[in-house]
Amino acid sequence: MPGFELFGNEERKEVQDVMETGILFRYNHDAERKGIWKAREFEKELAAYHGVKHALLCSSGSAGVAISLAACGIGVGDEVIVPPFTFLATIEAVLMAGAVPVFADIDETMCLSVNGIQKVLTPNTKAVLLVHMCGAMADIIGIKELCDSKNIILIEDTAQAMTSSYKGKYAGTFGAVGSFSFDFFKIITCGEGGAVITNDDKKFEIIHTWADHGHNHVGDNRGMEDHPNLGFNYRISELHAAVGLAQFRKIDHILETQRKNKKYLKDILKQFPQITFRKHFDEAGDSATFLSFFLPDAETAFKISNVMAKEGVGGAYWYNNNYHFIKNWGHLKDLKSPGKLPVTMFKHQDYHNLDLKTSYDVVSRLISFQVKVGWTEQQFKEIGDKLYNVFKNNL
Ligand SMILES: *Cc1c(COP(=O)(O)O)cnc(C)c1O
Repeated sequence: MPGFELFGNEERKEVQDVMETGILFRYNHDAERKGIWKAREFEKELAAYHGVKHALLCSSGSAGVAISLAACGIGVGDEVIVPPFTFLATIEAVLMAGAVPVFADIDETMCLSVNGIQKVLTPNTKAVLLVHMCGAMADIIGIKELCDSKNIILIEDTAQAMTSSYKGKYAGTFGAVGSFSFDFFKIITCGEGGAVITNDDKKFEIIHTWADHGHNHVGDNRGMEDHPNLGFNYRISELHAAVGLAQFRKIDHILETQRKNKKYLKDILKQFPQITFRKHFDEAGDSATFLSFFLPDAETAFKISNVMAKEGVGGAYWYNNNYHFIKNWGHLKDLKSPGKLPVTMFKHQDYHNLDLKTSYDVVSRLISFQVKVGWTEQQFKEIGDKLYNVFKNNL
């Protein structure tokens, strides 16, 4: 995830443009801003890249998920199927919408599986909130077919997998709505920021109004704009949009480098028959922010991840991570919140006793190694050699 590796004059220039007009707000002030519209420009490029009609930048990827749910009419008591392996924001967004998270199993795609989803469907299932984890896509065709056949809305949380694709079609463009994150740890960054994309005109009306207190963004007199619905403030600032715009224009270089680097490392790991790899349906479409692989059992994975850390080639062992896997989400299982959550008023799974054996098995054996863009040739060779030795000496 290299966005932060690549700050340079390009980002500085875009930010400077905004500083010179002093208009840090993304809407209005038409005369004073002297033609500088960074959020608009980034939205246009984002939509064109994905081949969709609409894109809205917002304040974070978490906001992006919340906006997606609103756009799809998800509200109090609606059941939304979610994965137990994701960044916690996905689940929080469902809870904040007043909806009911329903956990289903993932598989070796590292994402929700058709099988897993089928097991938890009820007549109240309204949507599947699919998360494409660690740079690559879920079984998007299978899951889309299932959703279509059951009349369930498919929403894609693409925070970790922007630019990944299946047969040339980008993640985030299969569902009704897709969202991205540009926080500091994603493939490109605004510092903080996110986006929502869709092809649906009606949904886009909700997206841009709901993310800005209902403002319909017509005219240049904010106080007199119409407000078709309520909403909240999920706006991005021009400064953040400016950084993201410069970053987004580096995406071809980022992808090409990551894919080359991932292949080099994967070829090294392939020499060890005990190692298996994340399941892809179209590996050419992997954005390659991570090289994710499985060890034969949890014990070996834990041991190897510790040795990797000691050798300075640390990988993420998600099984013990407090934010990415349900095992350590005690606060969620207890529904701990300062005020009463709507979910407590509805029938929901017993979050302490979920049947997620497959997910636990998969995540307990999984390690994800972050692929970087800024490695020099020499650093790169060293990392490859170190990884080789870790496996050679410990498998
Ligand atoms: C990062 C992330 C988010 C939240 O993005 P922020 O910009 O940090 O709010 C949501 N979902 C997933 C899967 C993420 O990885």
